Amino acid sequence: MDAEFFRRWLTTAAGAVERDADRLTQLDSAIGDADHGSNMRRGMAAVVAALDKDRPATPGAVLLLAGRTLVSTVGGAAGPLYGTLLRRAGKALGDAEQVGGEELREALTAGVDAVAQLGGAAPGDKTMLDALRPAVEALPDTARAGHAAGQGAEATVPLRARKGRASYLGERSVGHMDPGAASSALLFQALDEVSAG
Ligand code: ADP
Ligand code: MG
Ligand code: MG
Repeated sequence: MDAEFFRRWLTTAAGAVERDADRLTQLDSAIGDADHGSNMRRGMAAVVAALDKDRPATPGAVLLLAGRTLVSTVGGAAGPLYGTLLRRAGKALGDAEQVGGEELREALTAGVDAVAQLGGAAPGDKTMLDALRPAVEALPDTARAGHAAGQGAEATVPLRARKGRASYLGERSVGHMDPGAASSALLFQALDEVSAG
């Protein structure tokens, strides 16, 4: 996997977020402040524009630029969290021009660990981590990772939120999918789509 692969991954993810922005916002209107779709759409569009403009030459540089762009364009919780995921993963990849499945797994695992540390969420707290954690655990098999992320997002429906805005609702957060887990599933499904070619 080279820089072009990573650019295609994020461009594909941006397209999925664009298509599903209304659904993400609806999920966030049930248990948050109804902005997750617009936050992610704005952030991912800025990522695509930045990657098109700067054309970073290595996988690590692609992820670092994408992460930085998300932090600077997405207000709210998701910007710093996704920004941390991608920046930490990009840092782990260093300046390698080609990345194998095992290195991708290690880098994204480091990114997910950093998200957990920044947000203080544990598995089952009804956050994006409930999709991200099983996804990275299934890597380097991207088909399994995409599936695991989708299952992880589905599994947030009966949970009670313990982190983020949704936690203010207490028991009333039960019965709705976590919007960040839903967008994380899109990210890993896009990875599989691009891997499958
Ligand atoms: P905001 O809640 O600030 O409006 P978004 O709506 O864009 O931000 O993103 C909300 C999502 O962020 C949640 O659905 C959840 O997945 C994720 N999130 C919020 N707080 C945390 C946290 N502490 N740890 C991990 N994920 C979190
Ligand atoms: Mg929100
Ligand atoms: Mg908000």
